[in-house]
Amino acid sequence: MSRRLLLALVIALIGVLPLIPGVPVFWITVMNNIGLASLVAIGLVLLTGVGGITSFGQAAFCGIGAYTTAVLSTTFGWSPWLTLPVALAITFAVSAVLGLVTMRLSGHYLPLGTIAWGISLYFLFPQLDILGRHDGISRIPPLSVFGFDLIDGRAIYFVIWIAVGLVALATLNLLDSRVGRAIRALRGGGIAAESFGVSVQRVKLIVFIYAALLAAISGWLYAHMQRAVAPGPFGINAGIEYLLMAVLGGPGYIAGALLGAGIVTLLKDQLQRILPALFGSQGNYELIVLGAMLILLLETAREGLWPKLLRWLPEPPPAGRPAAAAPLERRAAPRTDGADVLLGVTSLTKRFGGLVAVNDVSFEVCRGEIVGLIGPNGAGKSTTFNLVTGHIPPTTGAVTYAGETITGMAPSGVARRGIARTFQHVKVFPTMSVLDNIALGAHLRGSKGLFSSIVRLDRAEEARLKFEAARQADRVGLGEHLHKPAGSLALGQLRILEIARALALDPQLLLLDEPAAGLRHLEKAELAKLLKTLRADGVSILLVEHDMGFVMGLVDRLVVLDFGTRIAVGPPSAVRQDKRVIEAYLGSGA
Ligand code: ADP
Ligand code: MG
Repeated sequence: MSRRLLLALVIALIGVLPLIPGVPVFWITVMNNIGLASLVAIGLVLLTGVGGITSFGQAAFCGIGAYTTAVLSTTFGWSPWLTLPVALAITFAVSAVLGLVTMRLSGHYLPLGTIAWGISLYFLFPQLDILGRHDGISRIPPLSVFGFDLIDGRAIYFVIWIAVGLVALATLNLLDSRVGRAIRALRGGGIAAESFGVSVQRVKLIVFIYAALLAAISGWLYAHMQRAVAPGPFGINAGIEYLLMAVLGGPGYIAGALLGAGIVTLLKDQLQRILPALFGSQGNYELIVLGAMLILLLETAREGLWPKLLRWLPEPPPAGRPAAAAPLERRAAPRTDGADVLLGVTSLTKRFGGLVAVNDVSFEVCRGEIVGLIGPNGAGKSTTFNLVTGHIPPTTGAVTYAGETITGMAPSGVARRGIARTFQHVKVFPTMSVLDNIALGAHLRGSKGLFSSIVRLDRAEEARLKFEAARQADRVGLGEHLHKPAGSLALGQLRILEIARALALDPQLLLLDEPAAGLRHLEKAELAKLLKTLRADGVSILLVEHDMGFVMGLVDRLVVLDFGTRIAVGPPSAVRQDKRVIEAYLGSGA
C-alpha cells in the first residue's frame, strides 16, 4: 500500500466517523479536541520543530482568539463568522509586538520570554470586566452554516477537521517554498542564511505570527464549540501540553503534530481519570506526568514518533530531477565607472580586545581577477572575509564595492550587491537536501512570499529556482546527490556544495575560504578548472587557500598576511621570491 493510499484512507476515516451510526459521543468530543489541539501543534511544528524557536506561550493566543469572538458575539451581538477576521487581526497585532521583543532573545532566554508573556496574558484575562473575570463568558452563539446552527458536537466536527485539513495543506505548501527554505535555515543559527539575503529576524517574526494565528483559529473554534470561555484552558500548562504534542509526534512533521495531539489528548483524558483515583484526592496530577514526559522526550527521543512510524511505511517514489524551467534573471554587472577595481579594502583594522586580528590592511580585487589571500594560521584571513561580508564590523577602515562604501553593512545587504561567500568551517543545513541548500543561495533571485507559497502561486518561480539549483549542482559535480540530505556528504563535498550555493546567488564577487581543504587531487584540479571558467565569465574571486600548488597556478595576484599585517602583494612569481613571505609563511622549501 502506498503512502498516498494510506493518507486517503485516514482522511476518509476522519471524514465519515461522525456519520457511522452508533459512534459514541465521547469519541466525537475527543476527536474535536484532537482537531483543535492539532491546529496549535501544527504552528509549533513550524515554529519549534522546523525553526528551532521554542514557545511555551501558544495557549495565550488561543485565548485571544476565543475571547475576541466571545465578547463580540455576546456583548456586541456580532455574527460569529464576522468575528474571525477581527480575532486574527488582534492576534496578528499582539503576536507582532510580542514577537518583535521575544525573537531578539537568544538561547534559553527565548523560551523563558515566551513563558513570561504566556503567564502575563493568562493572568490578564481574569482581570478584565469585559472578559467576565474568573467566570468568563457564557452563552456564546454557535457557528451556523447555511442557516443551520452547529450546536451538536457532530456538526462542528466537520468545521474543525476541514480547518485542520486546510491548515495542514497550507503549512506543507509553505515548507516546500522559498520562505520555507528560509524558515528551515533558521536552525543553522542564521549566519549562512544572512549571507544569502535572508533576513533572519524577519523570518523568525513571520513564523511566530503564523503559529500565533493558527492558535487563534483554534481558540475561536473552541469558543463556538464549548459555547463558553473562561481563563482556565489558556494558561501555561496548556502551552506545555501543546509543546509536548509537537515534540512527541516529531518536531518538523505536520503529520507528527496530529499524531502528538492525538496521543496527548487521549493520554491526558485517561490520566485525569486514573491518577486522582490512585492518589485518592483531586488535583492536576496529569500535568506532572505530561511535564516529565516532555523533559524525557527532549533528552532522549528528540526526533519524535512520526519518523519512527515512517520507517514502517512504504518508501515514496524517489524524487526526480527538477524539470527544465526558464532560467532566472541574471544580475546586471555592477558599474565601476570605468575603473577596474571591484572590491576596495582600505586600512582595514579589527581588534578583538587586545588582539589586533587585522592591522591596517589594504588591497584591491579587480573585475575578472582571482586574488589569493594567504598567510599562516591566525594571520587574519577569515577575519578579513568577515569584515568584507559584514559579519563583523571593522574597528577602523573602509570597504568599497563597485565604488559604493559597504563598510559595516549587514550581510544580507552585501549579498544583495552580488557578493557570495563560502565558510572555512562549512555552514550547510544538514537536514535539508543538497538541492534545497543550493536553492537557498538563490533566495534573492526569487521574490514570492508567505501568501503566494501557501496558495501555491509560487510554483513557476519555484521551478526556476530549483532548476537553477540543479544546474549549479551539475556545474560543481554534485548532480548525482540532489535529493540526499546535505549532512550525508563528505567534508570535501560539503565545501563544493557551499560553492554551488554561492554560485546560485549569481555573484560578481566570490569569496572562498579554503575551498580546496579536504579535496582529493583530482577534485582540486576540477575546482581550479571551475574557478578559471568563472573568471572567464567575468566573476571576480578572492580566495584563501593553503595549498600553494593550487594557488600559484590559479591566481592573478596574491595578498600575504602575517599577524594581521599585509607583508606582500603582487603576482605569484614576485611574491614567491619575497624574503619576508618565505620567512613568515612559505619557508625556504618553496
Ligand atoms: P586565519 O583565517 O588567517 O587563520 P583568523 O582571521 O581566523 O585567521 O583569526 C585571526 C586572529 O583573530 C586569530 O588569532 C584568532 O584567534 C582571532 N580571532 C578571530 N575571530 C575572533 C573573535 N571573534 N574573537 C576573538 N578573536 C578572534
Ligand atoms: Mg581562516
